[in-house]
Amino acid sequence: MSEPTETRKQRAARRAGEFPPAPEPLPRPVLDSHTHLDITVSEAGVPGGGPGDDPVAVAIEVAAAVGVDRLVQVGVDVASSRWGADVAEKYPAVLATVALHPNEAPRLADLDEALREIETLAARDRVRGVGETGMDFYRTGDQGRAAQEESFRAHIAIAKRYGKALVIHDRDAHADVLRVLDDEGAPDTVVLHCFSGDAEFAAECVRRGHLLSFAGTVTFGSAAALREAAALTPIDQILVETDAPYLTPMPHRGRPNASYLIPLTVRSLAATTGADLDELCAAISATGDRVFGPW
Ligand SMILES: [Zn+2]
Repeated sequence: MSEPTETRKQRAARRAGEFPPAPEPLPRPVLDSHTHLDITVSEAGVPGGGPGDDPVAVAIEVAAAVGVDRLVQVGVDVASSRWGADVAEKYPAVLATVALHPNEAPRLADLDEALREIETLAARDRVRGVGETGMDFYRTGDQGRAAQEESFRAHIAIAKRYGKALVIHDRDAHADVLRVLDDEGAPDTVVLHCFSGDAEFAAECVRRGHLLSFAGTVTFGSAAALREAAALTPIDQILVETDAPYLTPMPHRGRPNASYLIPLTVRSLAATTGADLDELCAAISATGDRVFGPW
C-alpha cells in the first residue's frame, strides 16, 4: 500500500506556513535581482495574503514593506519566460529575463525552436535580460554538455542582438563559462547569478567588469570562500538576489524563500564587506537600475 500523495496545492499550502517572519526593513530600497515568482507560488504559496488575493501582488507588497521594491523575474524555459514577460507588463515593480536553463536545454527535443521563442520574448520592452543561461556541470553530465554549450552561445548572441543583460548560471563550470564568453565576445552587461566562485574567480570577473549577484548562500556558515569573494568585489559591482524559492538565507535555511527576505542577505553582505548598510543599499539599487532599469 502506498501513502496518499500530497497534491501540489496541498504542498504549497503546507509550505506557505513555513515562510520565515519578515526581517527588519532596510534603510533604503533595493531590488531582488533574481527570483522565480512562478515556482515560489506553485511550490510554496506566498508569505501572507488571503485565499482570494493575487499571489504575485501579495509577494510584491510583502517585499516592498521591508524595502525590496523591485524584482527581476527569471525564466528557465519557454513557458516560464513567457509568464515572466507577461507579469512584467502587468506589474510596474517587476522586470523579466528570459531563457532556457542550462539543465533544461539538453532535454529539449527541438532546441532551435525553443531558442526562436526565447528570441521573440527577448525583444519585448519589459524583458531586460537573457538568462538564466550558462553552464552547469553539477546536474548535466557529459552527454548533455554539447547542447548546453550550444544553448549558452545562442543566448549570448541574443543578449547582444537586443542589447539586454546576460544573466549567467554557473555551477562547477567557472573556467568553461569564461572560455565561452571569450570565444563569443561578452555582451556589455554580464551578471553572474548566485555567484559561487572563490576570491580568485571573483577578482577575474571584477576585472572583466561583470556584476556579481550574491544570494542567501553568502550567509551560510560553510561559505567562507564566498565571503572572501564578496569582500573584494567593489560595491558598485554587487547585486543581491533570492533565487527564491531556493537558497533561503540564515537563520532560516531550509524554509521557503521569497523577495522579502533580501534584507537578511544585504545585512550579511554589509558585515562581510565592511560597507555602511545605507551606502551598500544605495549602491545595489543604482546597479540594479543601471543593469535592468528603468523600471
Ligand atoms: Zn534561478
